[in-house]
Amino acid sequence: MTTPFLLTELMASGNFDISIGVKKISELPKLKKAEALACTNCGRCERACPAVMSGTDLTPRLVVQNIKANYTSDGEMTQVVLSENATWSCTTCQACVEECPVLIDPHSFIMETRRNLVMENRTGKDMQAYFNNLTNTRNPPFGTRPRTGMLCCSSHRSLTGRRRCSTG
Ligand code: SF4
Ligand code: SF4
Repeated sequence: MTTPFLLTELMASGNFDISIGVKKISELPKLKKAEALACTNCGRCERACPAVMSGTDLTPRLVVQNIKANYTSDGEMTQVVLSENATWSCTTCQACVEECPVLIDPHSFIMETRRNLVMENRTGKDMQAYFNNLTNTRNPPFGTRPRTGMLCCSSHRSLTGRRRCSTG
């Protein structure tokens, strides 16, 4: 089953063999490949991209150009189109989408590749720690549980202007 899917249908089917994101160029929808074929290589997306400005491996122009050059290939996105590092460099700002004169969405190719990396657990140690913290404590950067007692005291103080206990 591919995305999007209804969770209720998935549970009812009992088949948890799901595919999320795009692993290979051949998995891209025909319309998305046609989008890449329209790229004029003008570089406007590249000039607006903060990932390029900050010197990362990512360039949205090359993402689209690599798909264009390999649109009949069965190669993996992270082998042929962009590196795993580059996949994580996108800030999802969508400046590339805004700038493109022929309405290509380079960011969507990067996001589909990233979704597949997450599904395959190819996220790197830092990212795994982030996801674990998000699941376990809802505090991704630090992984500590919120100090509810202190929060309670400070909210009480801001609402009433009075201290509720010796620590608040
Ligand atoms: S969405 Fe990603 S690729 Fe596009 S301009 Fe922003 S950082 Fe660059
Ligand atoms: S702005 Fe659009 S047409 Fe120009 S290089 Fe980027 S994707 Fe290609």
